[in-house]
Amino acid sequence: MPDKNVLVLGGGVAGLSAALELASLDIGVDLVEKADDLGGHAREFSCKAVGKCVKCGACVVEEKLRNVILHPKIRVLRNSQVEKVTKSDGRFSVTLQRRHENASLDCEADAVILATGFKAFDPESKPYGYRLFENVITNLELEQMLKYEIQVSRPTDFKEPERIAFVQCVGSRDAKLNHLWCSKICCGSALRMARRIKAIQPETDITFFYIDVQTFGKDFQTFYEDVQKDVRMIRAIPGDIFKTEDDRLRVIFFDTTSNESAEELFDLVVLSVGLTPGEDTKPLAELFQLEMAESGFINPSKDGVFVAGTAQGPMSIAESVASAGHAVWGAVAYLGV
Ligand SMILES: Cc1cc2nc3c(=O)[nH]c(=O)nc-3n(C[C@H](O)[C@H](O)[C@H](O)COP(=O)(O)OP(=O)(O)OC[C@H]3O[C@@H](n4cnc5c(N)ncnc54)[C@H](O)[C@@H]3O)c2cc1C
Ligand code: SF4
Ligand code: SF4
Repeated sequence: MPDKNVLVLGGGVAGLSAALELASLDIGVDLVEKADDLGGHAREFSCKAVGKCVKCGACVVEEKLRNVILHPKIRVLRNSQVEKVTKSDGRFSVTLQRRHENASLDCEADAVILATGFKAFDPESKPYGYRLFENVITNLELEQMLKYEIQVSRPTDFKEPERIAFVQCVGSRDAKLNHLWCSKICCGSALRMARRIKAIQPETDITFFYIDVQTFGKDFQTFYEDVQKDVRMIRAIPGDIFKTEDDRLRVIFFDTTSNESAEELFDLVVLSVGLTPGEDTKPLAELFQLEMAESGFINPSKDGVFVAGTAQGPMSIAESVASAGHAVWGAVAYLGV
């Protein structure tokens, strides 16, 4: 149906997938991205293959990016975000604010797919010394290190860390923050990164502090058995982290085997921060009159506006792609094409 046009908000993996599926059905797409570049969070992820592919999904985004840029039915509008929306006779009239040009642009759309993603939890409020101690980093920072640098190193002296601790569930499953959800991806992501580090820096000693391990994918059991050969698993979440005089990190935790408080020294601590609602989720839900869940994520769809990817809640890249498919089919049914 060539004369239909859909506005896709957000150019992460969910928005890219939705745009490509719509375009393959000959529906015109305006793909609106707030940032300078398309790709969202997944653009910064490293390949975690060890010998063979571990299906982390990181390369999915690169392929989609190439196809979106080349597709004649997709107009990409970077540095842009919605300022105003009205709807009459079933059509959306949307005013976009274009950041760098300091100008606005009006577009018309028959339906909207909202794929504005998530915000990674900021762990500064947790007692782990993030931003205070340079050798405490997040999982996102480790992803970037693995992607862009030759080795994993300590930010303070660029030496290979002898001992690395992963601390899971930072900002997720946390009643004090009222973040009751499991972020679903951080166990898989951390364990894959741990295995990748062991493959490139085999002398590294890796400890994984966790509550329980969220399963992922059909090959999970075999992967988990393999990973336990390389990674020491401790079922405890640290209470505090302190810095020693020689720039090491003292991690305090409650050891459930001895039933006593214990402490260990590490050179690098990786906080597995979880997914929280994106900063524009609430204003966009208000502009498009969508319902929000108590968690702050958006409920799936309403009156020509469909939601895809992690704007709905925590999910993996593969699930974001699948949810974009559902949003597209919702839009197609709504448009009657
Ligand atoms: C540390 C970490 C590691 C992970 N590792 C894995 C992994 O190994 N495998 C896996 O499957 N998943 C992983 N995930 C999950 C993965 O990041 C998500 O599944 C995926 O990025 C979701 O894509 P998305 O398009 O929904 O959101 P995003 O990637 O957040 O993209 C949203 C896009 O919307 C844009 N945007 C925001 N607001 C607006 C607005 N108002 N207007 C226009 N555009 C806007 C943003 O700039 C962004 O480009 C990981 C997540 C984290 C935090
Ligand atoms: S899915 Fe992940 S591990 Fe497999 S090739 Fe792609 S980036 Fe590498
Ligand atoms: S995926 Fe793992 S680390 Fe992330 S919130 Fe769930 S249990 Fe915690």
